[in-house]
Amino acid sequence: MYFADADRYASLPYRRTGSSGLDLPSISLGLWQNFGAANGLDRQREIILHAFDRGITHLDLANNYGPPPGSTEDNFGRILRSDLSPYRDELVISTKAGYDMWPGPYGVGGSRKYLLASLDQSLKRMGLDYVDIFYSHRFDPTTPLAETLGALKTAVDSGRALYAGISSYNAHRTLEALEVAREIGLTLTIHQPSYSMLNRWVEHPDAEAGGRSLLDVLGEAGLGTIVFSPLAQGMLTSKYLGGVPADSRAARGGSLSQGFLTAENLGHIEALAEIAASRGQSLAQLAISWALRDPRITSALLGASSVAQLDENLVALERLDFDSDELARIDEHAVD
Ligand code: NDP
Repeated sequence: MYFADADRYASLPYRRTGSSGLDLPSISLGLWQNFGAANGLDRQREIILHAFDRGITHLDLANNYGPPPGSTEDNFGRILRSDLSPYRDELVISTKAGYDMWPGPYGVGGSRKYLLASLDQSLKRMGLDYVDIFYSHRFDPTTPLAETLGALKTAVDSGRALYAGISSYNAHRTLEALEVAREIGLTLTIHQPSYSMLNRWVEHPDAEAGGRSLLDVLGEAGLGTIVFSPLAQGMLTSKYLGGVPADSRAARGGSLSQGFLTAENLGHIEALAEIAASRGQSLAQLAISWALRDPRITSALLGASSVAQLDENLVALERLDFDSDELARIDEHAVD
């Protein structure tokens, strides 16, 4: 039987999600990889319960996480039932819909038909009455925004979700979404973009958003920002500096292609590892501290394949300060 650590709220800092009332842990745990049907449930349980014991109250899922799609929500539902159900009100659980989920025209995209059916399936798989955050996983150019956001509003109004979010919408699509949300009376609370020292698109000016970056748009609108893959799927750790370890994501194929591990990228990664060492941090810790240096960023959304990785990464929160010299040195190598 699982009893959560009594000290779980003692050290991890929480940040307010934009102008909402929702606090998120500054490090959140994502279940995209390592939590599907092919991964042992004992290891999954160990990582998730350890995260909660350390104060990580936010767990991020999506309908299609697995493989196969849906199996991560199935597994998480098992862990909820066996261990975490007494702590449901201490957890922020998110899911999403937008990518391919089931065959035919209603299992992908941004239609009302897909989003609401998918949310009902996610709730069933996890054995939940509601999720805390429901996201449109990506912008769908073939569906009116009013329909996609209208589905999020129905999800909130019907009690199936407490908050609504969007993921990977660029700056000008986010501005459009904010406008439509205002018109239909939906509050958008959070945005989930990718962001790391090797992927800085959220900082770049978007001409169609009046030259503002996504981070500018989010800051002005009061949306929270939870950034995914701040370790660039593991590239911003020391693990690939001596080759590709057999148990790594890049060795498994799939989402992290070894094609990203170019000599140029590895050169930058090595230089960033040296900067990390000069700060007394591992490269993973530097990457997380750096992603959290902007107060508009609510949480760094990490993956982990072991408890040891999670513990190493949490130490990043002890060194969130940067001086201008360090930032300038990082800028020379944090290029995308
Ligand atoms: P990260 O960039 O944090 O990569 C995590 C991976 O890096 C781990 O699985 C592990 O890989 C490796 N790693 C982590 N810590 C260490 C360490 N200390 N030392 C060495 N290696 C380490 O994030 P993810 O790409 O996993 O994404 C995080 C979450 O973001 C997802 O689970 C999901 O919730 C969300 N996401 C959202 C998307 C969206 O479209 N909205 C898209 C992608 C992700 P290894 O297996 O090699 O050990």
